[in-house]
Amino acid sequence: MPLIRQLPPGLVNKIAAGEVIERPASVVKELMENAIDAGATRVELQVDKGGLELIRVSDDGCGIEMEQLPLAVAPHATSKLIDTDDLFHVRTLGFRGEALASIAEISHLTIRSRTASSDMGGQLDVRGGELAAVQPIGAPVGTSVEVRHLFFNTPVRRKFLKAPQTEMGHVVEAFTRIALGFPQVHLLLKSNDRQLYDVPAANTLPERIRIFFGDEVADALISVESNEGEIRIHGYVTNPSVSRSNNRMQYLFLNGRYIRDRSLQHALGEAYRGLLMVGKFPICFLRIDMPPSEVDVNVHPTKTEVRFVDGGKLYSQTLHALRHKFLTSDLTAVGKAPNALPDRYYSNEAQPLPSPRSPELPLAPASSTAWSTSTLLGRIPDFRPFDTSRGAPQEPPTRLEQLTQTRGSGIGPSEFPWDSVPSAALATTDAAPILRHDRPHGERDSARQRSSAAMQVHNRYLITEDENGMVVVDQHALHERILYEQLRERVLQGSLETQKLLVPEPVSLTPLEAQAALDAKDLLLKVGIGIEPFGGDTVLISSYPAMISNITPSEMLRKVLEPLLSSGKEPEPRDLLDSILHTIACKAAIKAGDKLSPEEISALLEQRHCFTDTHHCPHGRPTALFFSRDQLDKMFKRT
Ligand code: ADP
Ligand code: MG
Repeated sequence: MPLIRQLPPGLVNKIAAGEVIERPASVVKELMENAIDAGATRVELQVDKGGLELIRVSDDGCGIEMEQLPLAVAPHATSKLIDTDDLFHVRTLGFRGEALASIAEISHLTIRSRTASSDMGGQLDVRGGELAAVQPIGAPVGTSVEVRHLFFNTPVRRKFLKAPQTEMGHVVEAFTRIALGFPQVHLLLKSNDRQLYDVPAANTLPERIRIFFGDEVADALISVESNEGEIRIHGYVTNPSVSRSNNRMQYLFLNGRYIRDRSLQHALGEAYRGLLMVGKFPICFLRIDMPPSEVDVNVHPTKTEVRFVDGGKLYSQTLHALRHKFLTSDLTAVGKAPNALPDRYYSNEAQPLPSPRSPELPLAPASSTAWSTSTLLGRIPDFRPFDTSRGAPQEPPTRLEQLTQTRGSGIGPSEFPWDSVPSAALATTDAAPILRHDRPHGERDSARQRSSAAMQVHNRYLITEDENGMVVVDQHALHERILYEQLRERVLQGSLETQKLLVPEPVSLTPLEAQAALDAKDLLLKVGIGIEPFGGDTVLISSYPAMISNITPSEMLRKVLEPLLSSGKEPEPRDLLDSILHTIACKAAIKAGDKLSPEEISALLEQRHCFTDTHHCPHGRPTALFFSRDQLDKMFKRT
């Protein structure tokens, strides 16, 4: 029987570090939280190379007594809890006494600190958990913690780290969460000698939201306030005209601490039910203040998940507060020309603006953006993809033009790709309709003639025939495939036509999205999306692929960034390009539910012969099902 042993403290700390410190951003979170707990009014964060080289957090908080410095980095040593009772009334961000010990175990860490009551400060160096002697130093009141060579002795963790820019994106997100949770604190973020943020003290939450998320979000804020008993929910949500296609912009703060909570996110989704298009998520910046005894924050090592004593009550209070607000507000979208640019843009750029595009000028037509309560309670207004007031030099292609624009592109129906697919590659069974793969040569012309006779059912399937039987086509899947092939072909040939925007469109992104967009700038340009940094987390879209007509450039950019953000690893440029093409094709394709004119139907069906692999959409779903006449006869018991 193997002996049971007590683990050595270094190993215990490394195990704890594994839970608390996942990446540089986790260090940033822990150190900034300590600064806030120390009562700092100003916290400065310096991060070099995404935190792989240096993370330093300096604050003007209460400081640590010199002789206490070794205790600060000892495991399970904290000044924030005195007895067990405190654990159930946590008022500070930290309380486990684990963070500094964990970080010190896996990095080179230096703490410098002085309290107001001592003339002399102290410095403590720790390397991989080994403490040096505390040295007296001159230092301002407050604490500065410097972390270098993170994960130097945990190579496996190091291997999981992403490129510095990606890690920096996570760092900025951690910084943003603190900034939104504590608007009264002056916060600075410097990276590789660049000042990324200088967020003044005492600005309000909406001002901070503007700094981090730009005008689009800040101008759409709706304030929420609800007090029931000892629970206060307050903050902001956004007008339903501003939403996101993921839930990353749902910021919830419990007594200042950033949390994720499925139940509250669900309440939010319920409150917006019927107000947002499918696949869209609300944005929120909501603060919940409640007595610490009403919540257990000790359920998760990084404390981003918590357990409420009465979660049901909180759920209904949130839902009720939002619903009530929506019903009593005029949710007319914040009127603002979608392309309106900050003044600074106009002043330093002698851009020839087409007359209707001056900044004071016309708000988008009310019909395209207005959301009155009555519309909200009824149906979602039609999606008006392109605002005709946009200063684009030419009109976007109509759907029919878009459906027919392969003509003359040099990608003709010279081969007949359906034939080239080996039949063994596709499973067939006798009873089930089979995927069309066995079409004989020479049939194309008759199929083409017949496509004009196709009919659309349920605004989503096209039914047509050929000599051997009946074909049911999924209009979205087929169009998506065609667009994907067109895009890919043109990208490969370098012949993708792009539409230049006369007035570049600013898009405010989250820090992570902005980082990902700028990192992928060259790839995006390959697919016709030209972007430039525009300060903060705003990027300017200067061009987009001309063949895309039913989605706004900014929506397309956000959509395209999604796979970049969700792929866990640093993606290969080729895969990235492919996923961007898929995304654009999927978003730009006609949808199930779109009514097509007879011309559009025949234009679409005509093109299924033009591209390889048209029998599967890029997601691998079939684009067409084939029912042979024999099969039909059999099913109708004719034979
Ligand atoms: P916790 O925050 O859970 O107490 P930490 O390991 O993060 O644990 O910190 C240990 C202790 O070190 C804290 O309880 C606090 O007393 C002290 N400390 C850490 N950072 C600071 C700081 N920036 N200013 C003052 N004291 C600090
Ligand atoms: Mg702490």
